[in-house]
Amino acid sequence: VGALRAGDGKGRHTTTHRELIPLPNGALVIDTPGLRELQLWGEEEALSTSFAEIERFSADCRFRDCTHEREPGCAVRSAVAEGKLAAARLESYQRQRRELRHLEVRNTHHQRAEERRFDKHVQKSLRRHFRHKGRP
Ligand SMILES: [Zn+2]
Repeated sequence: VGALRAGDGKGRHTTTHRELIPLPNGALVIDTPGLRELQLWGEEEALSTSFAEIERFSADCRFRDCTHEREPGCAVRSAVAEGKLAAARLESYQRQRRELRHLEVRNTHHQRAEERRFDKHVQKSLRRHFRHKGRP
């Protein structure tokens, strides 16, 4: 929980690590910053929006997951060849997408390490919790 920003009254996600909180009634609450993943999807959406014409051409690519780099039947590269799309636009689209992928890979690695740490933490907490309660 955090204070609202004075400027626009918006809140900020304050959960930046995972935590296991045992409640007095025996229930366990997992506090997790799951919304950080949404942020990345949002960025990918922003890429599609700012390169809408590339998205339009890519609908005619032979492969649905076409990267418009060297796949056969790429409608985006054809559009460049036919002068319907500026080569510089495609280049900047690909540059931004590579940056996004790079970020995504880094995030995934980071997330896996965090999940492993969390699993260990949960196991330890559960053991402690049940030992305290007098169960095995
Ligand atoms: Zn393509």
